[in-house]
Amino acid sequence: MSPETNILVDQFGRKHDYLRISLTERCNLRCTYCMPAEGIVLRPREEFMRTEEVMAIAQTFVDLGVKKIRLTGGEPLVRKDAGAVIELLSKLPVELSISTNGILIDQHIDRLEACGVKAVNVSLDSLKRERMLAITRRDYFDRITQNIQLLIDRGFDVKINNVVTKGVNDDEIIDFISWTKETPVAVRFIEFMPFNGNEWDWSKGVSLDDILKRTTDHFGVFGFERIADKPNDTSKNYRLKNGAGSFAIISTVTNPFCDSCNRIRLTADGKLKNCLFSGSETDLLTTLRNGEDIRPLIASSIQNKKAVRSGMESFDAFSNTEEHGKNRQMVAIGG
Ligand code: SAM
Ligand code: SF4
Repeated sequence: MSPETNILVDQFGRKHDYLRISLTERCNLRCTYCMPAEGIVLRPREEFMRTEEVMAIAQTFVDLGVKKIRLTGGEPLVRKDAGAVIELLSKLPVELSISTNGILIDQHIDRLEACGVKAVNVSLDSLKRERMLAITRRDYFDRITQNIQLLIDRGFDVKINNVVTKGVNDDEIIDFISWTKETPVAVRFIEFMPFNGNEWDWSKGVSLDDILKRTTDHFGVFGFERIADKPNDTSKNYRLKNGAGSFAIISTVTNPFCDSCNRIRLTADGKLKNCLFSGSETDLLTTLRNGEDIRPLIASSIQNKKAVRSGMESFDAFSNTEEHGKNRQMVAIGG
């Protein structure tokens, strides 16, 4: 391993070769668990990375050993030059993927395909229009579901992200799993996570154990099977017997998977976050704009990464919403 590659290895031996880049804090939805109804305070354009700055920082990470880049946001596809960023990043020797709410997929699908993007994660919290309207506070259900079908038809590796909350959409767990019987999608149930301003309270959450119990009650112990997780997977993966797709549970709250974490995040305003839950950040953009080397900053951020959830190891510590007040709203992090 070259000395430079070591920069991405933290004190617990975890190698951070997966960079998630937020392209914008803006979004065309207002999901209740992610951002307030009124949106977030928009800041001047100059505070955010320009395309060439995204590229310069991404190139530095690739030189250091990053192998995988995921574009996220906010909604990455609302950025005006999202297409140009995708094209430029696709020239780097990385596996490029994207997380999107799906609304603008039809406008970008040809480019995604041409750029070799194979994996697309789409948020879908309900299979019912009225409910999606209540959760996302916008009426885009038809476009989202049509675009999911388009991605499937065009052979993309489609993952569906579903944030499960009690009394809101937890009665659809079985419907989502049943969807994977004939359809080649991977549905991922995500435990509701705490962020600044999202009124988190675990009494609204639905746990890994609870989801598995409901699955077993409905399909029986032999109706579904555990399938192998990929290295660094954040999810525990399952498949219905003879299912075309699969389903998974991301249990950040009740069973964190930090010991195999290989992720680092770059916010749209050029700050490096060594953990989704870290209250502190490292400003790479200002240093880049000053013409200075950003590598020492990357090195110290990685070295300062805590073992579990930015130091909130116990459930009690993690449940202290004051701690999450120091973090950003999810929409401004890049999940
Ligand atoms: N707009 C894109 C989308 O919706 O996929 C990308 C950004 S979004 C912040 C990334 C993922 O974070 C989505 O799958 C969303 O469901 C998830 N997310 C947002 N807030 C969350 C929360 N409080 N708990 C769990 N997942 C959350
Ligand atoms: Fe927008 Fe994605 Fe957040 Fe929903 S989850 S508000 S689509 S960034």
